[in-house]
Amino acid sequence: LMCSLRAHYRSFSFSASLTNVMPAWVINKYGKNEVLRFTKNAALPIIHYSNEVTVKVHAAGLNPIDISMRGCYGAATMAMKRDALNMKQSGSGFPLILGRDVSGEIVECGLDVKYFKPGDQVWAAIPPSVCSPQSLMFMSVTQVSHKPKSLRHVKATSIPYVAATAWSAIVNTGGLNKDNSSKKRVLILGGSGGVGTLAMQMVKAWGAHVTVTCSQNAERLVRELGAGDVVDYTAGPVEKQLQTLQKFDLILDNFGGESEKWALDLLRPWNGAKYVTLVTPFLHNTDRLGLADGMMQKGVHYRWGFFAQRGPTLDEISEMVDSGKVRPVVEEVFSFAQVPRAFQKVEQGHACGKTVVSIE
Ligand code: NDP
Repeated sequence: LMCSLRAHYRSFSFSASLTNVMPAWVINKYGKNEVLRFTKNAALPIIHYSNEVTVKVHAAGLNPIDISMRGCYGAATMAMKRDALNMKQSGSGFPLILGRDVSGEIVECGLDVKYFKPGDQVWAAIPPSVCSPQSLMFMSVTQVSHKPKSLRHVKATSIPYVAATAWSAIVNTGGLNKDNSSKKRVLILGGSGGVGTLAMQMVKAWGAHVTVTCSQNAERLVRELGAGDVVDYTAGPVEKQLQTLQKFDLILDNFGGESEKWALDLLRPWNGAKYVTLVTPFLHNTDRLGLADGMMQKGVHYRWGFFAQRGPTLDEISEMVDSGKVRPVVEEVFSFAQVPRAFQKVEQGHACGKTVVSIE
């Protein structure tokens, strides 16, 4: 049932039940921050199918992909996904509302929705292919889940997209889970950002030993979150420092760059060890490369990791949050009026956790 739910919602918007418009931050063309526009008259999402819900957004989270999408990244692929049936309602895909994370409250449920009721407190991660009300009618089932009871919306919204990505990369692609991670050695390259801070808590909670690369200013944070070894990549060639450590069972690469040239040598060979990178050429090169997701070389596996929401992922993460195994790492909170500043913050990089927008 959960998987079949569609959600109608906006990240940088919120719904009002008595009118057919709502305030929102939209873009009408791709570009830099100047293209973000505030409107009081964005179309209110309405339920089209009996398995849909509408959600009033109380807080939204930003991810690097929102910055990329503002600048046109993946526009053709996403437009194709949104309009797979070639039933274009709006030729351009604009206005586009960005934002990948929501935490909020169910307003209305379609007739077949049994698992949720109006007033339920929920969270969700929005796939990049879901951006506009028109597209939502045709594509991408989005999963809504009850948010952790222990978190207010502003903290909760920092988790879904990075958690679903980390889960997909570590569990679905990397092959680790709560039952087989004990004493496994996991290396997280780029551990101080949104995905890294979530991923390290997950595998630590499952009993793995975690090594993290980050800059020196983030060392305290990642140690608090459970990193056993921390390597400061600003203090000399990071691969040299990592080569002095025992080999790893899984490497999650949140940074990319040159790292895939040396990272495979840090894995235990012929042991099922995997290197999973989130920095993939997928959207740029889909046509050229097809849908290959990795290869095996030198006795270790090379894989691409992707955001994916499957089944009860967010429910499992919600339980980990409520039982104190995973906590949100919110670096900065902006008001709804400050959405462009929130984009600026994410665009500047050097994240220590997540940037979120409060819409309460
Ligand atoms: P963030 O911007 O939140 O975090 C990136 C972190 O990496 C920052 O803390 C940054 O801090 C740190 N960093 C930068 N350079 C290095 C380096 N050389 N070594 C170690 N750390 C470094 O990004 P996310 O965590 O949200 O995402 C990580 C990556 O994964 C992004 O490239 C994103 O686009 C990608 N991604 C891909 C998805 C997919 O479906 N394939 C889904 C989600 C994310 P500092 O610069 O201060 O060191």
